[in-house]
Amino acid sequence: MAESVLPFKVVYHPRYDLNLGAHVFPSQKFRLLHELLLREKIAKPNDIIQPDRASDQDLFRVHTQDWVTKLKTGTLTASEIMKLEIPYSPELAEAVWLAAGGSILAGQLALGDGFASNLSGGFHHAYASHGEGFCALNDVAIAIRRLQSDNAIKKAIVVDTDVHHGNGTAHIFRDDDSIFTLSIHQENNYPAHKPPSNLDLPLDDGVEDDEYLSTLLPAVEKSLDEFRPDILFYVGGADPFCEDQLGGMRLTKSGLKARDKGVFQLARTRNIPVATTLAGGYARRVEDTIRIHANTILAASEVAAEISNRANGAPAR
Ligand SMILES: [Zn+2]
Repeated sequence: MAESVLPFKVVYHPRYDLNLGAHVFPSQKFRLLHELLLREKIAKPNDIIQPDRASDQDLFRVHTQDWVTKLKTGTLTASEIMKLEIPYSPELAEAVWLAAGGSILAGQLALGDGFASNLSGGFHHAYASHGEGFCALNDVAIAIRRLQSDNAIKKAIVVDTDVHHGNGTAHIFRDDDSIFTLSIHQENNYPAHKPPSNLDLPLDDGVEDDEYLSTLLPAVEKSLDEFRPDILFYVGGADPFCEDQLGGMRLTKSGLKARDKGVFQLARTRNIPVATTLAGGYARRVEDTIRIHANTILAASEVAAEISNRANGAPAR
């Protein structure tokens, strides 16, 4: 009998690799994370599910036809490639289409299981009509629009904890009252232009665990209580880590896991489903980035167990 160890599904595809070779973005991290989850038995093969590529229709709810065509045909201009900051390849296009399909699937699964995790995605710098900062398609925006179009949800919150501001997501949803965007980030960092989220929590350089958690968690709690979303999409960047090469904050691995767990507890105790995505992570040692992402899955698993114990401990009626 096929076994599973997780109370939710992990979404992964072998072609998630962005095909970047030697680059500050470790595009082998998707494969390494998948391997680590299996090796350490955090997940079993039966917990893992492969996504389909997002459809053109899915993409066009967020992105312009012109941008999608350029990505499909490899006809980006030199300035568009400069903004994207990664080389274009057919493998890159395939990977971001699959990542978007993965975030759609994670959203759908989370609505049934309470949680689901895409082992890619969180490409929050992608705008409707261009890519930026390693992000070609905004998978989380695509997933939310798909769930809304299917009438599976009305309102969604995006909690973006990547060290960099979630500029693309904030811009895409700027005039949409059905989506609440929250970004906690290092103010003095990329991107230079930060279109306002519904709630921005800009932090100084060098912030440590305690200050970070005491800024983030009360803000998430208040946002959930006031906005009452039908789903929470979590952009779980590993780059607020103290040894990140592109980040200037000083969170520890245990602080980052407490961050994940804290957000998940706030959502799940309110019965709000959570779909997680990876986003950035540029630690000097790629093992650290992988560990931080794996801890997000562990945190979700621990919170799912807490919620289920609480439900089982409730008096019978
Ligand atoms: Zn980042």
